[in-house]
Amino acid sequence: MAEFTRDAPALDDILSVSKVRQDFPILQRKIGKSPLVYLDNGASTQKPRAVLDAVQRFYSEDYANIHRGVHTLSQRATQRYDAARETVAGYIHAPATEEVIFVRGATEAINLVASTYGREAVGSGDNILLTAMEHHANIVPWQLLAQEKGAEIRVLPVDDRGVLELDALDSLLDERTRVFAFTHVSNALGTVNPVEKLIAAAHRRGVPVLVDAAQSVQHLGIDVTALDCDFLVFSGHKCYGPTGIGVLYGKRERLSEMPPYQGGGDMIEHVRWEGTTFKDIPERFEAGTPNIAGAIGLAAAMRYLEELGRERIARYEANLVDYANETLSGVEGFRMVGTAPDKASIISFLLKEIHPHDVATFLDAEGIAVRTGHHCAEPLMRRLGITGTTRASLSFYNTREEIDLLAAALGKIVRFFG
Ligand code: PMP
Repeated sequence: MAEFTRDAPALDDILSVSKVRQDFPILQRKIGKSPLVYLDNGASTQKPRAVLDAVQRFYSEDYANIHRGVHTLSQRATQRYDAARETVAGYIHAPATEEVIFVRGATEAINLVASTYGREAVGSGDNILLTAMEHHANIVPWQLLAQEKGAEIRVLPVDDRGVLELDALDSLLDERTRVFAFTHVSNALGTVNPVEKLIAAAHRRGVPVLVDAAQSVQHLGIDVTALDCDFLVFSGHKCYGPTGIGVLYGKRERLSEMPPYQGGGDMIEHVRWEGTTFKDIPERFEAGTPNIAGAIGLAAAMRYLEELGRERIARYEANLVDYANETLSGVEGFRMVGTAPDKASIISFLLKEIHPHDVATFLDAEGIAVRTGHHCAEPLMRRLGITGTTRASLSFYNTREEIDLLAAALGKIVRFFG
């Protein structure tokens, strides 16, 4: 994590945040009488005008269904959908465009891999390795598969800081491990996991990996070629794109060996009563009319992020998180949950004995949006001996002034509850 000192370069020197905020119409609105302070970016991010305009333009100028039409609009829509795939492939450095499959989101992507690769590869007595900090989306599909196949779910533990216990890795990975699926960044604690090390350890044993990048692609930038991961998944709505669109990246040799997930239009080559043949990737995994506008919107989000500069975004956010850590730790009764040395833009905390839902309700009355509860990571909460936290999750459009407002509001809450 970057060192923060109050003499550090002004954040505006890294990124002109007041200008950036103008790109997000919703950030200008009020909640009651207070300006919106949106600190729920881990759940979903707001959308820049570039995304809103791209979707609006597509529907007003070029809209038609793709692939099946010879008419002009269908061809234009198809070109734009294909171009969106190219943009996404470029953004994550996928070696080939067809290795990017458009899905509904991270959840669907993991279910797809579990139901196709998983069903073929996992048998009775095999095991699937997860970590103790997974989102339910990266637990339940594997549990369903393990139950169906009589396989075992293994869990790489975390310590009290929310750091993975890497020493346990070698004994958990063995010749019966069929997949190691783990999150890059914990949505509940913000821990950044050492993906390269995790991937290398799995590959040494010939075990394929699935990286859940739902909380990292918007903060850290992703290079699937450098990572050499077998699968990587994320959701568009958490990286400034529309809802209902997400990405499954998979290595060509993996994807093209996998059976289809859903059957229907666009994924077939020929349908005969005797049997059906399927298209190659990516169409094989995109049955039915896809979320065309969603893909176009996601590509617009990625272009927007590229224009801002990924490195600048990462530096700005790291600086803001350091400011938040320092400022919030000054609030009486503030206890950070998750104190890993390497953390992304998530601050999970408890405030004295005050119930997180009460904290969030008070904050909402001040226009401050945060999230509370188990953050879809119940096993992690149990491991840490708590039922939930309040979570402030930051974006590059947040400011130090907003952190000050959060700290002041938390101080008020503490005084109110005595
Ligand atoms: N994995 C992680 C780490 C997440 O934070 C989330 C969303 N909170 C998901 C998976 C699931 O994403 P979605 O609901 O967009 O499918």
